[in-house]
Amino acid sequence: MTSAVSITPEQKQQLHEELLRTLTRLERSVTRHGSASRPAEMDQTCIGRLSRIEALQNQSFTQGLKEREKIRFEQVLDALRRIEDGSYGICAACKVAIPSERLLVFPETRTCTRCG
Ligand SMILES: [Zn+2]
Repeated sequence: MTSAVSITPEQKQQLHEELLRTLTRLERSVTRHGSASRPAEMDQTCIGRLSRIEALQNQSFTQGLKEREKIRFEQVLDALRRIEDGSYGICAACKVAIPSERLLVFPETRTCTRCG
């Protein structure tokens, strides 16, 4: 089974940043509703670190998300975790590299076009 990823390291970096931006938008959406005590300030040194993802997950802040946002949030966190562990860009179902065109449209996807 191939472990090749169809996206370039540059694209992966680009998608990583895109996912973090989505995460930030969701965080802002929660704090705007006033249901989270945590301010939306971004600690630049922590961005992209797994510890930050874990910290977010352990917070009650997801309670302030709407149902659809919560699903999106989980998918984004999952994608960031897969970037950290190196499995990002590989279809979770058939283990084939997901085409970059698909990843660029759906950065948080975990399956290829056929399985998705
Ligand atoms: Zn697949």
